Amino acid sequence: MPKDRRRSRELFDQARGLMPGGVNSPVRAFAAVGGQPVFMARGQGARVTDVDGHEYVDYLGSWGPLILGHAHPAVVAALERVAREGTSFGAPTSREVELARLVTQAFPSIQKVRMVNSGTEATLSALRLARGATGRDLIVKLEGCYHGHVDSLLVKAGSGLATLGIPGSPGVPAAVAAQTLTAPYNDAGALEEVFARHGSSIACLILEPVAGNMGVVPPAAGYLRAAREITQRHGALLIFDEVMTGFRVARGGAQQLYGVQADITTLGKVIGGGLPVGAYGGPADLMDHIAPSGDIYQAGTLSGNPLAMAAGIETLGHVSRPGFFEQLEETSARLASGLSAAARDAGIPVVVNRVGSMLTAFFTTAPVTNFPSALASDTKRYARFFTGMLDRGFNLAPSQYEAMFVSAAHTMADVDATVTAARDVLREIG
Ligand SMILES: *Cc1c(COP(=O)(O)O)cnc(C)c1O
Repeated sequence: MPKDRRRSRELFDQARGLMPGGVNSPVRAFAAVGGQPVFMARGQGARVTDVDGHEYVDYLGSWGPLILGHAHPAVVAALERVAREGTSFGAPTSREVELARLVTQAFPSIQKVRMVNSGTEATLSALRLARGATGRDLIVKLEGCYHGHVDSLLVKAGSGLATLGIPGSPGVPAAVAAQTLTAPYNDAGALEEVFARHGSSIACLILEPVAGNMGVVPPAAGYLRAAREITQRHGALLIFDEVMTGFRVARGGAQQLYGVQADITTLGKVIGGGLPVGAYGGPADLMDHIAPSGDIYQAGTLSGNPLAMAAGIETLGHVSRPGFFEQLEETSARLASGLSAAARDAGIPVVVNRVGSMLTAFFTTAPVTNFPSALASDTKRYARFFTGMLDRGFNLAPSQYEAMFVSAAHTMADVDATVTAARDVLREIG
């Protein structure tokens, strides 16, 4: 029952003549799943409607920010109010103070925070801070973790331990990539080796404390604690990139969930409530290295934008209500166990990884604990699953190596309908 998506097709034809690949962010082009991207027109709660009028239960959630669902009335009302008062001043406003307070209250490791406009900006600024504060140049990143399109972080992992980085994209100078060391995810021994070899020159280790960008991969027991201990011992800073996990896996992010504190935390997605926001923060003495308190420069014409602050404030306010994460946990757990059971009954090997409301159904047999085990997935089968679900009115991420996001707007009935559809699709593609 493929849907007629004529208008989407027409728009994509035009878009391809006007934008590289027809999109403003690569994965939207559906290259990983085949077919044509669906152009969206509207969203309300857990549902989106495309330009041809088809409705979908949405698990993309704009790639994570929409933890309250689409067009939440409180967020929309705040945006309308703020828009009438003026959209940007280039001067401080009270809403920046308010959002900064909400962030510092949720994260004990953050005493001061700087707002930026995207997750990419947050991680690149965090790296500059780490390098400036330590006087060291090398950074360590983990294979399969994504931190935005920062030159230093677009480094493909070489094989083996502590491989000196080679650029993962044309346009990244070899000299820049050479400052990035890589290690496998969830391997404390490999971290020990990298730091044993280069420790006195390493400014920081940056990682996703729950990986979400190779599909969802939780940290192994004790891994984050080991990362904390090793970096401390070598005088390097630990950066938790919580752009996806902050206010998502818990109010205080993965740090709260696993009881390990970072030196610098990067945030984005949920804290902007669907508007462009990023942030980085840490202890006051560290953050005071940033201009104008200190001499490490970082700035932004639209940073702390009133509309973005307002959407963030409303969103974080709702997330902080009692019972918010308990409800999200219930629907998310039901979705995960329903998908697992459906796959088992269809005789298709699927491993479902879930942390809170982030989950990935990997089409593979062995546990997914790092990048190579994620890459063992049958991406062709995922593509067929994705297409089957889309045609039944369920919008998942157009790639195996991404998360599904459950929002507070998803009901048990939505979840059950999703699992029922998944049963049909899995039987078809078995
Ligand atoms: C999405 C994401 C980023 C990049 O954020 P943008 O707003 O897309 O620049 C960085 N780190 C993590 C962990 C992310 O999930």
